[in-house]
Amino acid sequence: MKCKVCGEKAVIKLRQHNLALCEEHFIERFRREVERTLKKYEMFDRGQPVLVAVSGGKDSLSLLHVLKSLDYKVTGLFIDLGIEGMSEKARAKVEELAARLDVELVVVSLKDKYGESLPEIAKRRPQHRICSLCGMIKRYLMNKTAYDLGIKVVATGHNLDDEVSSLLSNTLRWDVSYLAKQSPYLPSVHPKLAARAKPLAFLTEREIAAYAILSEIDFHREACPFSRGAKTLFYKHLLNEIEVRSPGTKLRFYREFQSFRKRYLRDIDTGMPPLRECKICGMPTSLEVCAFCRLFQRDN
Ligand code: SF4
Ligand SMILES: [Zn+2]
Ligand SMILES: [Zn+2]
Repeated sequence: MKCKVCGEKAVIKLRQHNLALCEEHFIERFRREVERTLKKYEMFDRGQPVLVAVSGGKDSLSLLHVLKSLDYKVTGLFIDLGIEGMSEKARAKVEELAARLDVELVVVSLKDKYGESLPEIAKRRPQHRICSLCGMIKRYLMNKTAYDLGIKVVATGHNLDDEVSSLLSNTLRWDVSYLAKQSPYLPSVHPKLAARAKPLAFLTEREIAAYAILSEIDFHREACPFSRGAKTLFYKHLLNEIEVRSPGTKLRFYREFQSFRKRYLRDIDTGMPPLRECKICGMPTSLEVCAFCRLFQRDN
């Protein structure tokens, strides 16, 4: 297998593009794709500070790495959820890469700052799925940290596989309010709400894993103990089966959906009440007390 650009030995074949590339040209293409997504969605410019949420996995660490190598002004954020056997190991990987890249890293520990770890919070609230609680907590802390640091954009490492699996899930439920928000970039709609950017949204998990390995990024490989049986994994599996039979399906599904969303869904009224400020923490919410603060109200 030879690189389509230079004819040297290829290290990867991208079936969705019918393209084999050597290390140098794969990395070059990866960086170009990230730049293209940043520009197309007008996510952020080089001079603008960006908070990159890093979990220790390959996607978010690759995002931090590629943005730094492209000269963007990044600060890393690691949210320590206090998950035994995972959080400490993941944190070590994040700290290692941040030190290697000379990137400022902010660590927010749920237990140290708010008194309880994610598993402890989940134990008190058996009626909620732990992943829903986790998602809400992470979204809140990403936004709150960005606001406290005066940073207007939060970037996350969501990849194409993540995006198409939630697109499939939202489509199967015809969840229009979620579909309307499913974009690689969501601008801010409140002065205390950071814009949300997903610069890797058009790159597959496989491309990102290759980038991480070729860039010698040591990432956390173990899955979260709470991810077992998650529906997203099932949808990813189904989409991989389709992709094998019909390469390029994931990318087409996501790209075409973005055009559809732009035309028909972007400005629809999802029926959400207007945002106001939480009476406890002052952050934006549609209720009197935000979902995060409600977690710590004693009668809840
Ligand atoms: S799998 Fe683990 S890290 Fe992911 S959302 Fe669920 S609890 Fe959080
Ligand atoms: Zn080449
Ligand atoms: Zn609040």
